[in-house]
Parts: sequence; structure tokens; C-alpha cells
Amino acid sequence: MSDPRDELFYKQKHVHDLLDDGELKLSEDYCRKYMDYLQKAKTERLAVSEAVELAKKYGFHEFDRSAPIKAGDKLYRSVRGKLLLLAVVGRESMAEGANICAAHIDSPRLDLKQIPLYEQNELAYFKTHYYGGIRKYQWVTIPLELHGVVALKTGENVTVNIGADPADPILYISDLLPHLAAKQSEQPLAKAIPGEKLNIILGSLPVKDDKGADRVKLNVMKILNEKYGITEEDFLSAEIEAVPAFPVREAGLDRSLIAGYGHDDRVCAFAELQAIYETEAPEKTAVCILADKEEIGSVGVSGMISEAFECFMGDLCDKQSVKLEHCFERSFCVSADVTNAFDPTWPEVSELRNNSKLNYGVGIAKFTGRGGKSGSNDASAEVMGKIRRIFAQSDVVWQYAELGRVDEGGGGTVACYMGNRNIDTVDAGVPVLSMHSPYEIVAKHDCYMTYKAMKAVYASK
Ligand code: MN
Ligand code: MN
Repeated sequence: MSDPRDELFYKQKHVHDLLDDGELKLSEDYCRKYMDYLQKAKTERLAVSEAVELAKKYGFHEFDRSAPIKAGDKLYRSVRGKLLLLAVVGRESMAEGANICAAHIDSPRLDLKQIPLYEQNELAYFKTHYYGGIRKYQWVTIPLELHGVVALKTGENVTVNIGADPADPILYISDLLPHLAAKQSEQPLAKAIPGEKLNIILGSLPVKDDKGADRVKLNVMKILNEKYGITEEDFLSAEIEAVPAFPVREAGLDRSLIAGYGHDDRVCAFAELQAIYETEAPEKTAVCILADKEEIGSVGVSGMISEAFECFMGDLCDKQSVKLEHCFERSFCVSADVTNAFDPTWPEVSELRNNSKLNYGVGIAKFTGRGGKSGSNDASAEVMGKIRRIFAQSDVVWQYAELGRVDEGGGGTVACYMGNRNIDTVDAGVPVLSMHSPYEIVAKHDCYMTYKAMKAVYASK
């Protein structure tokens, strides 16, 4: 006799129990590609340039707004090198709406200040201003690398890249030795490392045979000038980011996990990318968004609030004489962003019935926000029903994903900005351990399921 619980109770399933050998191999192959991408895409600019390079291999070309479009066209537009929009034109008109997946490619990090370079007691340093929600104590005594651009007065751009090549030196922020940290150790974690102490050590050698001041700073500036042709004033118009110099590695004795910097949210960004790369002439136009600035409020020209999105979608609509608002009204969006994986070492912050777990697939969230869902998109029951239907039709293993216990804290995604545009939107993404830390953990099976989820959304009717 069958157990009525099998039919009546909701039961989440471990992805590993559901994949046959063939699909286990697909999961491994997909994760290999993701790890390669993550290793290269350490900043939003690099995430865009790597994505564009791959897109071209899959037949995408830059969207020319003066040229006609037809079903199956694969288009992309890079907005200032920091926001990337891709589309595969559907067989139906834009009037029927588009299937949109939106992830972000900026990650918490340390930005150099605009006047960063100084010398103190014969060591040279960069001052930093952290970007996004970091726990400052995690960013000291780890290897750092620098990426970014310096915009010269001539209009020329210089690309900065120090520490990514194993032959390069790495950079570093010091912390107190325990022997002298008695006072610091009594501070709460949030106060033990003040932001103004996140100073990056650049060098310790003075210029020889020089009687002037700041001989170590001068030596560092000479090295930078030789390598990049820049002077100190050029930092004023630079965007240089210090990010962890850790390699992306398999983690766990069973190699089931991936350790890396910036899974939030490049793990969802890559799932969208690989899915749209492989999408051919879908019924509805498929749109992939890799947005910048999510970690600081989705603001600015390259954030999800930017009209750059309307500009791209409007250009597509104009080609078919469709009103943009009418396209939005019928569109469907998955805001693909990571969620917190239940951490058995810290169970007290989660409510396990509703929290996502590693290896249970892509996590769907009806709402995000904090303190009574504040600031959340809060998808409708109908939208939740639709995503269940899409995933069921494509054998996507998914779970529910509320971020933590009620009133424990909370988070946000770009979902509300899509909802504000009159686009039906739901959150879905990969569960992460140690989110926003310099070295985050995800499970391979969840990465693979999120890629399958994005494919299913792009193929949906
Ligand atoms: Mn995120
Ligand atoms: Mn985040």
C-alpha cells in the first residue's frame, strides 16, 4: 500500500540522488566552465569582457540599433563596460513579452580611494574605501590583487592588473599580533577592524641616493609609472579594486563544492550566460542582464535602476513597432541572485523549514527584504505558480529559500526594480556559505541546477 504522505506532503530532494551518471557528468562539465569564468571575472568589468568574448564564440554580435532584427538573432550591448545585456530574438513579437533573467556581477571588495598613495614610517600604502557589505575583519592578512582602469587626461584608458599572474607579487593588509591585541580582541567584530585601517601595503624599499621625503612612496610611484605610465594625480580618475587573490578551487574531500571569490553573484550570472549562449530562436525573446552596483543599491548608470535597460529593451521593441510598456506588462523575470545556504555550524540564524540547503537545487524566494519583508519584490502566488510549472516541465530541482530567520537580518536583490517596471518577477538563485566573505562556497549541483533553471526560463512560453 502506498504511503499517503508521498502524495500529500511536500518533500525536497537532494540533487545527487536524482542525477544519473550522464547528468552527473553534465554537472561536472558545466562547473568546470563556471570555475574558469569565475577565475577570470574578478571585477564587474572583467565579468563583462569575459562574457562578451564567450558570447562572440556562440554567435552573438553587438546590437546595431539601425539594423533590422529577426527571430534567432543573438545580440549584446555592453553599457560602459560594466553592465551587459544580451538577447536572443524570439519567434513571437516583443508585444508578447520577453523572458528575462537578471543577475549582478559586482561583488563586495575594497576600492582604492581617489588619493590613495602615502608613506607612513617607511612603508608605502594605498588607502581604501570598502564597497558593499563586507565583514572587515575577513579582509586582513589575505593575499589581494588589484584590477581596474585609470582614465588619463588624454582620453586614453590604462588597464591595471597586479597579482592575478602567479609571477606577480600580491598585496596585503596587516592585522595586530595576538600578543598585542588584548584591547582589539575586546571589541565587537564589527568594530575590531575600522574601515580606515584597511590600508594596503605596497612596498618597503626607499629610493637610494635620494635626500628628499617619502622615498618609499617615490619608489612605488616610480614602479607604477614605469609599468603604467601614470602619475599620482591619475588616481583621481581611476577605478581600482582590491580583490582576494585566491584561486578558484574544488572544495571538500568529495570535490562537491567550489571555493571562490565572488560567487555572489557571478554564479548566477554565469548560469544565465551559459543558458542564453545555448538558446536558439526561442518562442519569446530571451534577455540576459548582468548588472553592476547591486551591492550598493543598484544605482547609477550601470545599476539595475538605470534606464540603460529601458534603452536596450526599447530598441528591441522599436524594431517591431511595439510599445515598451506593453512588452514589460507581459514579460517574466527571474532575478537570479544567491541566497544563504543553511550552515549547520550556525543553525541559529536560519529557520530550516524555509531556508535553502546545499545540494537541494536552485532556491526560489517569494520575497527578500528585512523586518517584515521591507523593500521586497514579494512575488505573487501566480508568479510562484508559474516558476513551479516551468521548473517541473524541465526537471529542474529546486527548493524554497528564505534568507534567515524572521528579524535576524535580511537582504535585497534587483527583483524589486524589475517589479517596479511592471514586470512579473521572482527571485531564484544558488545557496552560498560564507556569503560576502573573500572566499565563498557553493555546491556544484546547485550551480548546475541554476543553469538548467535559466535554460528552462528562456525556453518557457
Ligand atoms: Mn547578490
Ligand atoms: Mn551580495
